[in-house]
Amino acid sequence: MINNNLTCPQCNKNNVAVIFWGYPGNMDWYLQAIKNKEIVPGGCLIGNDDSKWECTDCHWQWGTRDEDEDE
Ligand SMILES: [Zn+2]
Repeated sequence: MINNNLTCPQCNKNNVAVIFWGYPGNMDWYLQAIKNKEIVPGGCLIGNDDSKWECTDCHWQWGTRDEDEDE
């Protein structure tokens, strides 16, 4: 879930969080992960062209959400 090896293509920093789409199953984990900048809330509505990553520094979003990672 955590991808510290990624680098933002916009600002070249490695403050990259996974965008979490949909409803969190575990709210405590969810809020803590947001606080830790491991994830950013993407919203409850999942579309067809959602981004996968967001830079917590410049808020650049890129990538493609994996259809198979729903758990
Ligand atoms: Zn960035």
